[in-house]
Amino acid sequence: MQITQSKDLFNKAKNFIPGGVNSPVRAFRAVGGDPIFIKKADGAFIYDEDDNAYIELINSWGPMILGHNHPMIREAVIKAMENGTSFGAPTAREVEIAELIVAMVPSVEKVRMVNSGTEATMSAIRVARGFTGRDKFIKMEGHYHGHGDSFLISAGSGAITMGNPDSPGVTKGTAKDTLLAPYNDLEAIETLVEANKGEIAALILEPVPGNMGLVIPKEGYLQGLRDICDREGIVLIFDEVMTGFRLSKGGAQELFGVTPDMTTLGKIIGGGMPVGAYGGKKEIMEFVSPAGPVYQAGTLSGNPIAMAAGLTMLNYLNDHDEVYTQLNQIGGKIVAGIRSSLEGLGLDYTVNHLGSMYSLFFTNSKVTDFASAKHSDTALFGKYFQSMLRQGVYLAPSQFESLFLSTALSDQLIGKILEANNVALKEIH
Ligand code: PLP
Repeated sequence: MQITQSKDLFNKAKNFIPGGVNSPVRAFRAVGGDPIFIKKADGAFIYDEDDNAYIELINSWGPMILGHNHPMIREAVIKAMENGTSFGAPTAREVEIAELIVAMVPSVEKVRMVNSGTEATMSAIRVARGFTGRDKFIKMEGHYHGHGDSFLISAGSGAITMGNPDSPGVTKGTAKDTLLAPYNDLEAIETLVEANKGEIAALILEPVPGNMGLVIPKEGYLQGLRDICDREGIVLIFDEVMTGFRLSKGGAQELFGVTPDMTTLGKIIGGGMPVGAYGGKKEIMEFVSPAGPVYQAGTLSGNPIAMAAGLTMLNYLNDHDEVYTQLNQIGGKIVAGIRSSLEGLGLDYTVNHLGSMYSLFFTNSKVTDFASAKHSDTALFGKYFQSMLRQGVYLAPSQFESLFLSTALSDQLIGKILEANNVALKEIH
């Protein structure tokens, strides 16, 4: 495999773009080496500028659940473009997608479209504060809710990877209203709530976090949070930007049978276009302008092209339950294969897996929260990543990320992934 174009592009990019990339984790800092620059993607593959093909296990960080460049989405986008790219005015498609989201996501009775997951979470917190008249909110250590100021406090994902979970530029004033708790620990929440009685507007979390690597909620944990929030009048927000429409049609909330007050969405909801959304109980969402006093707006919100892609994707998922069976089978086969090749190698490892998401951590302890995730051997992960890349398998370039599988992964490709995995593990052990 020859990689020259990507190297040249990266060197050039560094002159004009901070760090050469438009989102930090893309720079491969956590795994070493230079990033590959992508020319195109189709089905289960992406292709770099040197025309090397890689089997995709990131899928644009989640949106491409049916694989890349799906003909159905492509056609919907091209057709929508024939009528213009942006109107900044209401359209029929926005009504249709809102109705569909309300039908699919248990907690959502009304929904507002935005352009990214970051906008969705920032707006949801503002609405929860407006609704409750309180300022503080609880966030879990290692969870990532985009790059809004008040979330860049013990944040996961790229923020861990870059080694700056507390980003300069976030004021002390902002940070003081973000209360931190370890994930999977109900007692810690009780203590925080007691110490800040009547002052907490919201508790936001990834119900199944993927941004410190994948971590699974302990039994009863999500329901325990629901009970505390009910008792204390705190708005419970599930950030399902990753898990929405992935772990099931109705996301993690449907899978675990716990309904939050508000939900934030992104990724799959746009079918690969820049889209996010936040929604929830009618009485809360009625606080959003112009129905209510909490201001939130967007020139490109509900963009007709993005809505065409998202609507096509969601309609398909809504009509095809078998997608989730298929994704679960694909996830099951890959994870079983990885576990079996790890046996007897003498490497410290933990594999966390749910449906079409998984993470292989190089640590001998269980990974149940941010502290245990951080025990992982990130240098070893970097070697594993590079070996997989050389063999044509594209993983997330950080130990602290989940992988996202797509329905485009055939049994033959799963075989190839597992072969590469075998070689990589032997190389590094
Ligand atoms: N929330 C979660 C759970 C995410 O995983 C992400 C992004 O990965 C975001 C919010 C932010 O979304 P975006 O990158 O679209 O702003």
